[in-house]
Amino acid sequence: MKELVFLGTSATAPTKDRNVPALLFKYNDKRLLFECGEGTQRQFLFAKESILRLNYVFISHAHLDHWLGLPGMLSTMALHKKPGKIVVFLTSELHDFAKRFLYEFENERLDIKLEFRKIKEGVLVSEKDFKITAVKLNHDVECYGFLFEEKDSWKFSKEKLSKFGVKNIAVRELLEKGSISVLGKRVSLEDVAKQKKGLRLFIAYDTLGEGEYINEIPYDAVLVHEATFLEKDKQRARDTWHTTAREAGRIAELRNARLLILTHLSARVKDNEKFEIEARREFPNVLVPKDFDRINLLKHK
Ligand SMILES: [Zn+2]
Repeated sequence: MKELVFLGTSATAPTKDRNVPALLFKYNDKRLLFECGEGTQRQFLFAKESILRLNYVFISHAHLDHWLGLPGMLSTMALHKKPGKIVVFLTSELHDFAKRFLYEFENERLDIKLEFRKIKEGVLVSEKDFKITAVKLNHDVECYGFLFEEKDSWKFSKEKLSKFGVKNIAVRELLEKGSISVLGKRVSLEDVAKQKKGLRLFIAYDTLGEGEYINEIPYDAVLVHEATFLEKDKQRARDTWHTTAREAGRIAELRNARLLILTHLSARVKDNEKFEIEARREFPNVLVPKDFDRINLLKHK
């Protein structure tokens, strides 16, 4: 399973149709939440998803629309005795504040296995089949994008295995070492298997649509990028350190993205299509989800 569930697609303030940012990523048995705007726990209910299953929460920066839902959500988790641990990644300024705020006021009530970690550039999470790296974005406060990288895998060919005389029992050794000796001959992974590249997913909430971070977006990634404004508000995008839909399209084109997904849309623009049309001038494969839309990434291989 590789599914994105858009729980909030608005920027700054909610509208009747859009809540403030929150994006659930369901990856096999793991549940990752990116941003936790006010009201996110209720969005989970509407989406028929469970906050109790969350493993990780990532908050890109300290602006209120991106994290105000966190205290309430953690409190409800404690109320329902959330099983397992939850790790919350926060920028350094927010980390100290949130920790104090939550522990001082909620003390005994927060009876869950909760861990706050400070975001630093580099690898934040390293699991057996994926890792998550933080990349500095270009916003007016400390702000990070998140790169999810699934491990590459190998697809073995039965014919080639038998041609090279590699027995089942040696496959594991071949995977570990990269090459083994069979009857005095060297056999490498490439001889008997094809590499399947793992999913790359880059999530960039609040940022100016230019700067160093763009070079950190791997080629062929699924790119979830903020597009707060349309071209007519380009100057406003600059003044507030945000991106226009067209700029996001240009970034996707430059990094040869597999798919561009726009989110964090200005509350003043009601019609998602407007963002889509502008981004498509630069890059063809664009989606602009509404709240509660789901995108199955297995369909975008
Ligand atoms: Zn912001």
